[in-house]
Amino acid sequence: MVEQKLSDYAYYRTGGQCQALYEPKDINELSSIVRQLYESKTPYFVLGGGTNSLVWDDYYPGAVILFTKMKKIVREGYEFICEAGVENTTIAEAGLKASMSGVSWMNRLPGQIGATVRMNARCYEGEISHVVSLVRAVLFDGSIVNYTPLDGIFRGYKDTLFMDNGAIVAEVALSLTPGDRDEIEAHMKFCEDDRVRKEQFTYPTCGCVFKNNYDVGISSGMLLEYADAKKLNAKNVALNPKHSNFVYNKGASSREILEFTFEMRELVFQKFGVWLKYEMEILGQLDVELQYRLLEDRPTQVKAEEVGPLREVFLAKQRKGV
Ligand SMILES: Cc1cc2nc3c(=O)[nH]c(=O)nc-3n(C[C@H](O)[C@H](O)[C@H](O)COP(=O)(O)OP(=O)(O)OC[C@H]3O[C@@H](n4cnc5c(N)ncnc54)[C@H](O)[C@@H]3O)c2cc1C
Repeated sequence: MVEQKLSDYAYYRTGGQCQALYEPKDINELSSIVRQLYESKTPYFVLGGGTNSLVWDDYYPGAVILFTKMKKIVREGYEFICEAGVENTTIAEAGLKASMSGVSWMNRLPGQIGATVRMNARCYEGEISHVVSLVRAVLFDGSIVNYTPLDGIFRGYKDTLFMDNGAIVAEVALSLTPGDRDEIEAHMKFCEDDRVRKEQFTYPTCGCVFKNNYDVGISSGMLLEYADAKKLNAKNVALNPKHSNFVYNKGASSREILEFTFEMRELVFQKFGVWLKYEMEILGQLDVELQYRLLEDRPTQVKAEEVGPLREVFLAKQRKGV
């Protein structure tokens, strides 16, 4: 068994060593690796681009599966068949090349299609659930299962069956429609320019740390901004000046980043009575105290006098498209 450092594969640049690293070349090899791990009772997790995850720095006494060799994308009529490791941007570029609509919003969305399906990622009026027609996945015991959206795999905002059943997305079929090349290109450019303008690529980050709570009616980024999260002090961690839900890693350990996010969550709770839920996923083994703090749940009791006026500001900003 080879010891490897996961920070080399994680977008956030954190992550220690693990017991074994696997890079299957296709769904069948993935299935046989998972079967072996299951039979030997070896713990494991899968790591895509690591763009939505905080990979833990401490040694992981188990296996990690990467999709570095599962990067094939094939066009079949109006469908793109993608292996789990295909980058989102590659899919958007393939759509442009074929003048097919439905995936332009994925341009410069960091990460790979496997996790993008698992997270039901969305942005710029696109959502992956709108274009998926088939998912081939590997279950905990190595068996291969086919799912269509009719099997209830997509359950809404950042919520899928795969988050519960732990199935590994191995291949995805995306169903597209013929489109206008210039319009597709213009939308891709808009997505890229907007992300650059919002300084999303300046430092390693994992995108939004917290999900939005649509019952509250204000984005978590805005709650954090008005709770003054930017005043939090940490040597190697900072908030994106344009988006308070994005945490930059400026040389921090995974522990420093996680503890910083606990403080962000606490600030919002104290100011607005809203308990934010994590979108960022922690991959690795936390000690019991951190695990407890991560999973802590407090009932949201919205402080109407604070949230009410802010909702007006939020809606006005949305109308202006900022
Ligand atoms: C700058 C920036 C901007 C972002 N903007 C957005 C945005 O606008 N909208 C949005 O929705 N997200 C956004 N994100 C988050 C991220 O891009 C998406 O969630 C992306 O889909 C994650 O892909 P990944 O391969 O990096 O996932 P990873 O971080 O590697 O994995 C995420 C989770 O999925 C699991 N996983 C990985 N691969 C698989 C697989 N094949 N099968 C099953 N489970 C798997 C992992 O174990 C982990 O639990 C942003 C991130 C960054 C860094």
